[in-house]
Amino acid sequence: MGDERNRGLVTFKTADETQQIPLGRLVDGITDFLAHFVHPSLVDHSFIEIVGEGNGERRFARLLDAVGYGDDADGFFQALLARLGEKDGSGSITIGSVSLPHLLLMAVLEELLPGAQFISIKTIEQLERVTNITVADDERADMQEVLETYPVRLSMHTVRQMRISKHVAYQYMPFIEELDKVGHTNTWIGQFHQGLLEQMYANRVIFLLNMSCPVYCRFCFRKHKDSRNEANPAEPDVLSAVDHVRNSPAVKEIVVTGGDPFMSRRNMACTIDNLAEVAHVRTLRLATRSVAYYPDLFLGEDGVYLNWLKEKHLALQQKGKRMEVATHFIHPDEVSPQSLAIINELVRNGITVYIQTPFLKDCNDQGPELVRLFSLLRGAGAEMHYIYIPCSPIHGNSIYWSPISSGISIASYLRAHLSDRAIPSICTATPIGKIDWFSSGWAVEPVADNDNLIWIRTPYTPDYFKSFAPLTSELDNIRVNAEGTIDIQYFARIGDDSLFIGSLPAAEQIGDSTDGAPPSTRKLITEDCSLVEHSVVKTGSPRLSRPHETRVELTLEAGDAEFDYINGDECITDIVIADETEPVTRLDQVTSLVKRAAQIPWVNSVRIRSLMFNHAPERFTRAVIEKLAGLNRISLVGPLRLEIETRFYQAAEVTEDHARLVRSLNNRGIVVYSNTPLISGLNDSAEAIHQLSFGLRQTGIEFHHLYVAGLPQQDKYNGAQPVGMRTLVDIASTVRREGSGREVPRYIISTTLGEVDYGLSSSFIIEGDAVWVRLLPYNLTYFQRMAADFAWPDEVRVGDDGIPVVRVQGLAGTGNFTLV
Ligand code: SF4
Repeated sequence: MGDERNRGLVTFKTADETQQIPLGRLVDGITDFLAHFVHPSLVDHSFIEIVGEGNGERRFARLLDAVGYGDDADGFFQALLARLGEKDGSGSITIGSVSLPHLLLMAVLEELLPGAQFISIKTIEQLERVTNITVADDERADMQEVLETYPVRLSMHTVRQMRISKHVAYQYMPFIEELDKVGHTNTWIGQFHQGLLEQMYANRVIFLLNMSCPVYCRFCFRKHKDSRNEANPAEPDVLSAVDHVRNSPAVKEIVVTGGDPFMSRRNMACTIDNLAEVAHVRTLRLATRSVAYYPDLFLGEDGVYLNWLKEKHLALQQKGKRMEVATHFIHPDEVSPQSLAIINELVRNGITVYIQTPFLKDCNDQGPELVRLFSLLRGAGAEMHYIYIPCSPIHGNSIYWSPISSGISIASYLRAHLSDRAIPSICTATPIGKIDWFSSGWAVEPVADNDNLIWIRTPYTPDYFKSFAPLTSELDNIRVNAEGTIDIQYFARIGDDSLFIGSLPAAEQIGDSTDGAPPSTRKLITEDCSLVEHSVVKTGSPRLSRPHETRVELTLEAGDAEFDYINGDECITDIVIADETEPVTRLDQVTSLVKRAAQIPWVNSVRIRSLMFNHAPERFTRAVIEKLAGLNRISLVGPLRLEIETRFYQAAEVTEDHARLVRSLNNRGIVVYSNTPLISGLNDSAEAIHQLSFGLRQTGIEFHHLYVAGLPQQDKYNGAQPVGMRTLVDIASTVRREGSGREVPRYIISTTLGEVDYGLSSSFIIEGDAVWVRLLPYNLTYFQRMAADFAWPDEVRVGDDGIPVVRVQGLAGTGNFTLV
């Protein structure tokens, strides 16, 4: 390769513009990318094989060879820029036979279309010029009407992404179907609205600090005039909202949103500083999509906003409060090094980042793209929170709608192919509050004479709203059902009539059995019967079990054979260290295992199962914490997250010592989560789990799984007194209604063939006293891919559809209602 830096200019020509780009700048951009971002977490294996090892220059030389340009960088860039300049191009680019990675193209586009400004699009000509598309003649009049009805604003970051990703363009590019009038202009009833305050839940309020967004997503109600033309609040409005919170002791969490609330730093500062002084406020959740589509907001000016946020977080922490950042990602093409860097920086400094994902037809509705998206974000340190199904039914966004059945089926795909720690809740935001499918809510039946509406059972009751926002009696789209909760009409198609499961009978018709003396928590926490999970396939080693395609469990004595196994399967992303000896007392061995895991590019998480965390938090000394922090690698490239998995059964176990310890770990980017089994008579009531979820939330521990049945402890203790399935619905309804959405666990059944979500990725067959569970995520091919000699265990039945069915102990179903 010659010295291209002195070779002059390369032409970048689009339909409307011709630019001359210095070749040296392009070479620098691409060699920087090749030096730092060639890793399986970010680019394909085939590309890694092509560019090989070494520095950016050596890799670039190999790339030039592979694409057929030898030492002719100028020729390569001319070919590449010609492709990037093609009108209406938004697909992958192949030169020679090499498909160039999305992020590499982004690195080149940052040289071609630099900048961080926004562009407001007013005319079709401007739209065509900025996005390099052509609007067809017969669509121009309608498109102009769209531009006049709903604003189009793009950041340069999105302009670059849209040039090479149809999935990003799909979210921001205006389209003529936006003129359709089907759907709503807003998605909530908004029964309580005062100044910048909105309240849908008893324990939290929303502060709408800024009504506009840097970029308008076409599927969102913010593009509507009514929403975006609302006056932006000022500091006196913030202060009066804070006063309301001060006088509302039930309010524990504030969701600060907009538009993008970060666009008004003054309001944001006023909000944080004043809420910091309200004793009963525990958590501030700051919502912004800018992490994805306008990262310069945080990274610009040497990251001044990011640093400001970190300072505010520390100030809140001094007052015993938490800060979380909520953001949206929809498709992996949106994930950029910049957005990963922001998440890294926040998480490393103890600020939880959680992800919400609207489910968009023809964009992220198949499964693999969500697996890739959530894996990338999890590696960066984020928590996956919600997938919203379906996309909110707003005027003019019907192209994004998909039936409920499509979202439900995604749950099974994710359960089969994604780390359990990266699977969000599948929820629907009804106008009176959210539901989690098949635990706190479900589809009851169609609305008579209206194909667009279905009845959804919610966990909310008329009484629930009385204390803060009585439901108006004029609402004709709700009804109170036999069990006393509210059904609401929801604008969606079901897609599969079998998902209508009717109403839960009134409570007195179904009983539960919770008599008898339960085991003590101390006994449960110190017995070893569930330390290592069952392996769904044979692994050939007693030191390695495989409870899932993506997850293995290692004992402390694992060695070469076990790491050879992990090295042989790129699906394994998570290693859980679990042993009869508490791993935290053997940090030398843990360190050795983590270092070996760090050599395997596809492993992005090591989780230490520590029951000692619950009963002896003082054993996590400063030295232990520092050692663990040293093993935690939250990074842009090749991350290896360290997490602590523990187990709390009851709220009374959670103490201030745990809170202090979690703060220390969080401030080093280490998350602690609880997997809690329901134990008959001990914690199998709505109140017990609600108190536990609240206690964990206050302490900063993620409530990850609530095991409904199937763990060895549950087989042992719940067999004689099974947990009533009705109880599950009551628990899920109470936690959803009374708690924060961030407290809601996944409701999981553990089986010999793996885990399933209660009612969501499973369904039930009741035969007398026996409860059988259909495991929707799994089939024979799934297991044979992990172990070619896999055969169904004797106790497994297989349906005509190939879906395995297993019996579950310790769970009692009664009645004809599908979930109970
Ligand atoms: S950033 Fe959020 S509020 Fe703004 S348009 Fe997009 S989805 Fe709506």
